[in-house]
Amino acid sequence: MKYLVLLISLLTSLFVTAQDTYLHCGSIVDTDTGKTSKEKTIIVSNNKIKSLQNGYVLGTDADTIIDLKDKIVLPGLIDMHVHLESEYNQQSYIKRFTSNEADVAFEAAVNAKKTLMAGFTTVRDLGGSGVNISLRKAVDRGLTAGPRIFTSGKALATTGGHADPTNGFRKELMGNPGPKEGVVNSVDDAKKAVRQRYKNGADVIKITATGGVMSLAKSGHNPQFTLEEIKAITSTAKNYGFSVAAHAHGDEGMKLAIKGGVNTIEHGSFMSEETMVLMKEYNCYLIPTISAGRHVAEKAKQPGFLPPVVARKALEIGPKHQATMAKAYKKGVPMGFGTDAGVFPHGLNANEFEYLLDSGIPSKESLKQATIINAKLLDMANELGQLKEGFMADIIAVDENPIDNVKTLQNVTFVMKNGMIYKK
Ligand SMILES: [Zn+2]
Repeated sequence: MKYLVLLISLLTSLFVTAQDTYLHCGSIVDTDTGKTSKEKTIIVSNNKIKSLQNGYVLGTDADTIIDLKDKIVLPGLIDMHVHLESEYNQQSYIKRFTSNEADVAFEAAVNAKKTLMAGFTTVRDLGGSGVNISLRKAVDRGLTAGPRIFTSGKALATTGGHADPTNGFRKELMGNPGPKEGVVNSVDDAKKAVRQRYKNGADVIKITATGGVMSLAKSGHNPQFTLEEIKAITSTAKNYGFSVAAHAHGDEGMKLAIKGGVNTIEHGSFMSEETMVLMKEYNCYLIPTISAGRHVAEKAKQPGFLPPVVARKALEIGPKHQATMAKAYKKGVPMGFGTDAGVFPHGLNANEFEYLLDSGIPSKESLKQATIINAKLLDMANELGQLKEGFMADIIAVDENPIDNVKTLQNVTFVMKNGMIYKK
């Protein structure tokens, strides 16, 4: 008998792999229904959720127990629009001439960590120099702490457009950037630029369908691509499994982007009712980024903080933006969650929930957008955005029920990503 017990324990030790983590959760939030259930144990094995059990279950001595009995537990949050490479300040424009890629990389690593610690375990990085691709690799290898990153690398623009990298430069420094640098001016350029992103290792394509606020250019409204160019981008993107995100403030450029087949409209500041109908028709998702609009409008009032050409646009677009989001929600426009972090300080991403609530979007909805809907937009519906068996172990905790007080998401006290604990 003694030998049998020994044999069984020997066999068990052979077959029971690495130890599991048992999270004792005061309650967990179902991000689909908004309902909470009390006293649950989430068992995490490696990087996945192995099972959810009722009550506080104890494992073996080898397992780790994490006490979250006085916490509300929910899936890691997803931000569909960040810029990890930078954080805007008064030196931003001059830094374009003084920063080397390595300087950008060190800053990006800090920004990535701030984002993760704020409970955002997954982000979509919509444009930078391409350092964001290396950052994704470094995070994946565990070299630096950061969220799971889906990145566009360098965004696509037309000459003088919002993401033309030499906008505002002195004449002899402007050069003639092309598809490789993300500047396209024809159908052929468009195809080449998308293929170049594939070669660079991007996960998604970002285009700047209209002017923008932060670029050194006159208009934040004007359409900047032809319909043919956009169609060439979206159809080439499809071949490589990319979705396409379109930055757009002005209504005309937005219409072209939607008709051209993009998957999301970023910002959408001046979206008309007609375009809202078009969004529904094409199942195109709006990513609001109210945080950025509010932040730049605020900074524009501070003398000298923004260059005059930028301040003027910020004052015009910022205040209008939130009202448009409220209207779009009422009209039933499909919406995801995104902030444009980097335009404002990283780590403050969760303020967006409060602004969405101000715009009449209930916390139950915004929480679903920041989890289930964003996961779907990333083609990760069966892996991210919910606390379910087999899903990735991206788990956060807060002190209060976010459905009742969404501000609690601004103070995330526990962060697990991929089964690893980063904050507790
Ligand atoms: Zn942006």
